[in-house]
Amino acid sequence: MIVSGRAKVAAVLGWPVAHSRSPLIHGYWLETHAIDGAYVPLAVRPEHFTAAFRALPKLGFAGANITAPHKEAALRHADVVDPIARRIGAANTAIVEDDRIRVTNTDAPGFLASLTNGAPNWQPATSAALVIGAGGAARAVVAALIDAGVPEVLVSNLTDSRAAGLVRDFGRPARAIAWAERAGALSQVRLLVNASSAGLTGGPGLDFPLDRIVPETIVVDLVYDPLVTPLLKGARARGCTAVDGLGMLLHQARAGFKAWFGVEPAITDALRERVIADIERSRG
Ligand code: NDP
Repeated sequence: MIVSGRAKVAAVLGWPVAHSRSPLIHGYWLETHAIDGAYVPLAVRPEHFTAAFRALPKLGFAGANITAPHKEAALRHADVVDPIARRIGAANTAIVEDDRIRVTNTDAPGFLASLTNGAPNWQPATSAALVIGAGGAARAVVAALIDAGVPEVLVSNLTDSRAAGLVRDFGRPARAIAWAERAGALSQVRLLVNASSAGLTGGPGLDFPLDRIVPETIVVDLVYDPLVTPLLKGARARGCTAVDGLGMLLHQARAGFKAWFGVEPAITDALRERVIADIERSRG
């Protein structure tokens, strides 16, 4: 790693932040491209977020990723908010430009890039989608699908009122489906996205019966720990195309790296393997 006094520096702000794979991903790209730069994890308590975030230009940072629980606060404290971040209601990337902080959300384009890579036959204009979840990740997925021209985006969430709220914000073609009705809605769609946190290692599993899924359905899980979730296993067993969450994680990182360090980084098998090895190591 080359870090001189002139190094460009970026960070990830989160609380906690130790689980973040962003330092690994950006560190890999800095090394691969022999860039004089650094990318550091910053554990920032919620009560310190405003001060820490606003200090980024003063400290000479090129920018930062913003992770939970700060994604909404970043929107409030930025100087400039990109339209996509405004629409989603959360920002995951900050770029320092002329001492001002601009924020954007790269989860939406990252999701689309991962989906089109993993399922090149996906036809947005002719395939309705069902999104599970109503948090920040689900909002990014819904925005991406609407912008891609998906004619109907069904949203189902454990807490029904939250799905209704999301749908109210986005309007048509988003439509809420009661949690109790989720399995029946499967026959209407050709894309299923788990944008909830269910299925994550150490947490509750996703209770989603796949009996009515048709083999033409593409199934995406945003959860990437484990890489192959029970949902993806079930989808593959029924002949569906399954797309894991690691692709989105890697794709969403590219725009920030390009903005901070000036190089368009590549997503290679070697990088994927490095992140997978890290996920496996952290599970013991
Ligand atoms: P939030 O905390 O904002 O939302 C969590 C969502 O999961 C809510 O909709 C919640 O429902 C739902 N949920 C929680 N427990 C269950 C359960 N047992 N069954 C069904 N639904 C449940 O998180 P985010 O939206 O930020 O992230 C969601 C997931 O997406 C996380 O696992 C995150 O790691 C992943 N993610 C992956 C990315 C990638 O690049 N691959 C990028 C961003 C996120 P309720 O509203 O009822 O509580």
